[in-house]
Amino acid sequence: MREKSKIVTVEPADYFPREVRGECKLGEFAGDKNLTALMLGLAVGDALGVPVEFSSREELDMHPVTDMRGWGTYPVPEGTWSDDTSMALATLDSLKHDRIDYNEIMENFVRWAHHDEYTATGKRFDIGGICSHAIQNFIMRGHTDALLSGIDGEHSNGNGSLMRIAPMAYYLWRKGYEENRAIEIIHNTSALTHAHMRSKVACGIYSFVLWELLRSPCKGSVLQGLTKARNFYRGEIERIPYEDRLMKRIGRVFFLDEKAENLPMPSREEIQSTGYVVDTLEAAIWCIMTTNDYKSCVLAAVNLGEDTDTVAAIAGSLAAILYGMDAIPAPWLTTLQNREYIETICRACHKRWKK
Ligand SMILES: [Mg+2]
Repeated sequence: MREKSKIVTVEPADYFPREVRGECKLGEFAGDKNLTALMLGLAVGDALGVPVEFSSREELDMHPVTDMRGWGTYPVPEGTWSDDTSMALATLDSLKHDRIDYNEIMENFVRWAHHDEYTATGKRFDIGGICSHAIQNFIMRGHTDALLSGIDGEHSNGNGSLMRIAPMAYYLWRKGYEENRAIEIIHNTSALTHAHMRSKVACGIYSFVLWELLRSPCKGSVLQGLTKARNFYRGEIERIPYEDRLMKRIGRVFFLDEKAENLPMPSREEIQSTGYVVDTLEAAIWCIMTTNDYKSCVLAAVNLGEDTDTVAAIAGSLAAILYGMDAIPAPWLTTLQNREYIETICRACHKRWKK
């Protein structure tokens, strides 16, 4: 049983070094512009990273990505987004009916994995091992019991649920869900493929950050979101050594260690950008905190190397809410494959959710 989350009043200014506090302005609900920014911000980051996925940091230091490229790691043209955006779109395509139906979301994952739906070019070209395994479990169960399909092993903590959680987190905020219920749904959504506590918590931390950014788009909100996540999970995860370590690592990066305030921002060398969910989340938020516009943020993410597309997709989704839709470079949006498809699903959501 979860300990009731302790309510601790924390003012960002008490916690955060002066240089990252920023000035907070009250955000306004801007209709589907926010949702479209979220999804396109994610897709653009994803597409920038696809051609250099698995490249080392040393290789990228020699030949950094500065623009859209094609034909790198995969035989796909520039602007092609991958499984990250596909699975997020598959989730959103179910949410457009204004209800949460885990079986339908999994069914959409099947349509993507086996029938090439929700793809940039009409052909799926990548899939993570755990996602593939979970989708197979769902099929073997007769396309039911989606919440029992995910893999919960300690070594099943890749970033495959974190990379697709954005639309669900957005929906819960948009519909005004109560925090405890919203996090329960976020955990369930992770568990469709990634059912270990660490993956669920990573999705929860991302959601708290996104919600704060939606409320008030400034860097201080990122840190406020992390503080809220820490307060929410405190008590529950302190009993689980690795999950406690996850929060301590997040705390190390984001100045949230109460005993060591104003720690210096970690250097780039200290940030890992592998497909491990903790590394990915840490790297994405580091990119947000060390850059000052959308373009610099996603390029910083890609040029960290390793899991370039997913780190940039996650960083890009948050950066698009922080800086707004107009901050995404227009030439990149023009290059994005199947952009109209993404926008059509976003428009359908807005139309239905308004009712
Ligand atoms: Mg990918």
